Amino acid sequence: MTFTRRNFLRAAAGGTAAAAACATLASSPAEARDNKKLPDNAIGLLYDSTLCIGCKACMSGCKDANDLPLEDNIGEKLWDTPLELSGKTYTVIKIYQHGTMENKDKAENGFAHIKRQCLHCVDPSCVSACPVSAMTKHEKTGVVEYNKDACIGCRYCVAACPFGVPQFQYDTPTPQIAKCQLCKHRLAEGKIPACAQQCPTGATIFGTYPQLSAEIERRKAMKAGEPNLFPRRTTDSGDNHERAAAEYVDHVYGQKDAGGTQVRYLSGVPFDKLALPVGLPERSYAADSETLQHTLYGGLILPGVALAGLVAAAWRGSKDHHDDDENHGGHSHG
Ligand code: SF4
Ligand code: SF4
Ligand code: SF4
Repeated sequence: MTFTRRNFLRAAAGGTAAAAACATLASSPAEARDNKKLPDNAIGLLYDSTLCIGCKACMSGCKDANDLPLEDNIGEKLWDTPLELSGKTYTVIKIYQHGTMENKDKAENGFAHIKRQCLHCVDPSCVSACPVSAMTKHEKTGVVEYNKDACIGCRYCVAACPFGVPQFQYDTPTPQIAKCQLCKHRLAEGKIPACAQQCPTGATIFGTYPQLSAEIERRKAMKAGEPNLFPRRTTDSGDNHERAAAEYVDHVYGQKDAGGTQVRYLSGVPFDKLALPVGLPERSYAADSETLQHTLYGGLILPGVALAGLVAAAWRGSKDHHDDDENHGGHSHG
């Protein structure tokens, strides 16, 4: 494919800008940038949907630790009821449900929980899209952080994230971007993230990336139905929750999706039935967009067009995600 400005604009309008750019750049590999790599001291979370009981202690812990207000979205004025991530909510537990909902962690006549939050991408689109470096990735831990004082409110990060995570606080006089920063203030005090601290079953655990990788492999090797021990809070806490192992789908979400993430997921239900976009490329959107920007600068084409490609790609992922929601009718909120 010959890469002209005209066919690029057409591709951008159709949401295939990134693919068009990649096809072109494949013929000039010297210009392409690779996915960024995990930092040496990368940390993260593992969320295992099969262990989650939907208690929402993680959500309460998050609100408390981050001084976030409650939301009443069902008008009962009884408890905090966020329906999705929002300017007031950094993490939310959602439910997949199908048919009679008799079988936990099964797609057919079953149900499953899923935790939504920032995935702390290895090569984050939000960092790449931010024109003033208000979104940054910590060079040692890989935590994707936000600096409200640098933010100009352009919301490029909101548009660029393939997981629909950053939320703009429309209903405050001084709006900021809201998203999980892996409880960086607690990490600085030698504590672990509040969601992992509060989780009673080991569904959400904190660790170094290699520790979590080992735990993922350990869980995947378990025989479904046999009793096993699952550590609470951290992989080496020594405080275990005992229960039968579940049958996992053959996909560790975040291992490679969109270039990989430092928050990874295990599930018994295919991820296309949970509130996560599937079919994302292993090449990060940031690698594509920055390669494209480099090329376009060279050709004196407006870099804003490159952002259009990044946004189109993210929007397409988000649309697939919402289409999945509708097709499966599977996501309600407990
Ligand atoms: S999930 Fe979205 S907000 Fe979080 S690091 Fe990745 S691109 Fe940024
Ligand atoms: S790491 Fe902290 S901010 Fe992020 S979801 Fe967990 S409790 Fe909330
Ligand atoms: S605290 Fe743990 S078990 Fe409870 S909803 Fe959150 S992840 Fe699930």
